[in-house]
Amino acid sequence: MLNDARVYNLFERSHYAAAIRLKLLLIVTVWLLIVALSLGWNLHQAEQHRENLALESARTFFDLLLITRRWNARHAGIYVPITPQTPANPYLKDPQRDLQITPDLTLTKVNPAYMTRTLSELAAERAGVQFHITSLKPIRPENIAYAWEIEALHAFEQGVKEWAQPYLDGDHWGYRYMAPLITEKPCLQCHAEQGYQLGDVRGGISITLPQLAPIPWQALTISHGLVALVGVVVIVILGRLLAQAYEGLRRQAVFDALTSIPNRRFFTEQLVQELRRGRRERVPLSLLICDIDDFKRYNDTFGHQAGDRCLCAVAELLRTSLQRSSDFCARYGGEEFVVVLPNTTLDGAQRVAERIRQSVFELSLWHPASAHGVVTISIGVAEEPAGEADPDHELLIRRADEALYRAKANGRHRVELQR
Ligand code: GH3
Ligand code: MG
Ligand code: MG
Repeated sequence: MLNDARVYNLFERSHYAAAIRLKLLLIVTVWLLIVALSLGWNLHQAEQHRENLALESARTFFDLLLITRRWNARHAGIYVPITPQTPANPYLKDPQRDLQITPDLTLTKVNPAYMTRTLSELAAERAGVQFHITSLKPIRPENIAYAWEIEALHAFEQGVKEWAQPYLDGDHWGYRYMAPLITEKPCLQCHAEQGYQLGDVRGGISITLPQLAPIPWQALTISHGLVALVGVVVIVILGRLLAQAYEGLRRQAVFDALTSIPNRRFFTEQLVQELRRGRRERVPLSLLICDIDDFKRYNDTFGHQAGDRCLCAVAELLRTSLQRSSDFCARYGGEEFVVVLPNTTLDGAQRVAERIRQSVFELSLWHPASAHGVVTISIGVAEEPAGEADPDHELLIRRADEALYRAKANGRHRVELQR
């Protein structure tokens, strides 16, 4: 019998299902790669944004300090009462450093450097922003620069305008910023003796932001993970739907719509394959072309729809009458069918053809316009012998067709062989 499983096997052997699975895997991989790239990009952007924010904050802070220092320098220092927190500045060489106003009140001069240092000490008492005035040649030894500040100060001497870098402190990130103090005219009152000239880099003020805002990597990772998951689910669902639709189309392309047996296209493809296999394995192959007799008159008698039902009945008979799993039938066109019998000689094919002819007769489909009163079939048989060097499927079909022509010419309801 025509083995449905075999037809479906051949259908599956085309590897379409595997190809679609592979493509799906490729699309999913590309999708995951895109999401991973997006995650990396977003994390990088968040880091950049955080650094930019820190840089702007540090610059603002530095500018504010610079303004207060200029204001101080413009007044050549300001006087404040001496307190335990603000003693007289021992490094300020100025005859008018201390002014006794009353027996209880002595004012001392605070120059910009002393003011910045005092403010920085005030800031150090709290956990927030820290700043440090320093120089490569500090007047006050305690103002000596830290290693990273020395690096920045050297950079300033090379013309670098500012220095900034994040740093890791335990499990969190901080931010270091430093900008130079350029010698201006009022500065020379105190710093001329150190050899500084106008425009020289005299030192710098470093700003330390001890804790940068955390990067929302957890939220970003979770949201990207969800997007990736939803994308994969959508791709898989759409892929399945597409594969189903594709398989439906493939089936339509391979099976005949009316009779549900394989169509001419499938037959031609498989005949070529079977002939090649026959050549390799040195086995013969036989082909039957079957044509319903006086079918036009059947249609004329009973109508086209009845004709269709007759075609289905004959196709079903062919389908169920084949015995080997390698045999198969197909609708060749109109009321013509073909049967392919691999590894079968002409004698064997003749027996199969006779059985089919007899079975169709025994279906006893009433056909008053036929000489036999029932639907009959004529069959032409041709063989591709074993060991043919170059089997030609078109030639084989033509030879079987010639045999069929003879069967018609010799009175129909017959089997003719093409030797
Ligand atoms: P012969 O014995 O010489 O084969 O005569 P025939 O009438 O069978 O052959 P002919 O080629 O003259 O006519 C074939 C007819 O088959 C004509 C057409 O109407 C009919 N036919 C072809 N395809 C279909 C179909 O799908 N459905 C129906 N109902 N009829 C079809
Ligand atoms: Mg015909
Ligand atoms: Mg016919």
